[in-house]
Amino acid sequence: MANSRADNQSPPRKTDIAIIGAGPVGLFCVFECGMLDMRCAVLDALDAPGGQCIALYPEKPIYDIPGYPEISAGDLVEKLLAQARPFQPAFHLGQPVTSLARTATGFRLATAKGVTLDAGAVIIAAGVGAFGPNRPPLANLARFEASGAVQYLVKRRDDFANKRVVIAGGGDSAVDWALSLSPIARSLAVVHRRDKFRAAPESERRLRALAAEGHVELIVPYQLDALEGAGGKLKTVIVKSLDGKTRGIPADVLLPFYGLAQDLGPIAGFGLNLERNLIVVDPATSATSAKGVFAVGDIVTYPGKLKLILSGFAEVAQAAHAARAYLRPSEVFHFEYSTTRGLPKP
Ligand SMILES: Cc1cc2nc3c(=O)[nH]c(=O)nc-3n(C[C@H](O)[C@H](O)[C@H](O)COP(=O)(O)OP(=O)(O)OC[C@H]3O[C@@H](n4cnc5c(N)ncnc54)[C@H](O)[C@@H]3O)c2cc1C
Repeated sequence: MANSRADNQSPPRKTDIAIIGAGPVGLFCVFECGMLDMRCAVLDALDAPGGQCIALYPEKPIYDIPGYPEISAGDLVEKLLAQARPFQPAFHLGQPVTSLARTATGFRLATAKGVTLDAGAVIIAAGVGAFGPNRPPLANLARFEASGAVQYLVKRRDDFANKRVVIAGGGDSAVDWALSLSPIARSLAVVHRRDKFRAAPESERRLRALAAEGHVELIVPYQLDALEGAGGKLKTVIVKSLDGKTRGIPADVLLPFYGLAQDLGPIAGFGLNLERNLIVVDPATSATSAKGVFAVGDIVTYPGKLKLILSGFAEVAQAAHAARAYLRPSEVFHFEYSTTRGLPKP
């Protein structure tokens, strides 16, 4: 971790806990810390809170949040924001955190846009880091990305109504979106380099059934080869088989689902113990190798770690308690249930 420098133009803001990442797990930190009387500031590189839930699958239903037999990712984020609201967190969105430095009283964080924040302790909830899609290596990709003819996530399903859609990839996202979009798309083709998919078996079965009925075309084993069109408007996706045969698929939009590029970004330089690009934590406290810095959610590793929102929530409760003990070591602590304590009065 670098040493702090007073290199900021405006005076730094102050908070008890700085939370890096406003994904579902980071948002729940506000609640858990708030219940222990710690004020939070939440910083995120993206312009909207919600992390992967909002950036990658806002309309998809999630089935494994306790108490919600089914909830869309977007609605879950709304509920987490509502749960955080009584604790009045300060949000700094569109602010990638670029440095974390120890100071005499805690930590100083700085963002790429020049915001500085002083915090007593830090909770890193940065998911897969500054995430971005794995892009297919196609020559004229940028032009079609700019026009929206190539997209890496579905923000609004209805945008694809009556469109000729080509989906590339063989994982859960590719197969799930093929299932979801096929009833509304004018045509839908799935391009995958193998005839075997990595998606859930039941989803793959449904996809193959749609293909057998002629609602989806499975183009396997093929890879993306080129994009044709003019003025950013896509006309044809050219694909190539492993033995070099090419064919063109008429298309308005291409959705490559090749997973997320995992890039810890500046967090890799914070001086924390890392393992395979993840932050090593003590599962009992979510403490990292730096005293006063905790980490939760998809960004952490420990034996048995599951990359589930549910697991992230439990890690948050432990991190909040450990952060409280770190910030106020001499305080006699009385554990209270939320039912006993209630919420702050508005
Ligand atoms: C298609 C899909 C379906 C899924 N379905 C389920 C499911 O059914 N059930 C389930 O439990 N999980 C599911 N998941 C996984 C779930 O979304 C993740 O486990 C969850 O989002 C992790 O939350 P997080 O808050 O740890 O990280 P994220 O949601 O990744 O949020 C991290 C945030 O940190 C920000 N960030 C990163 N680096 C910085 C930085 N340097 N400065 C500032 N901000 C930064 C990012 O911009 C991001 O907003 C699914 C994931 C995908 C992709």
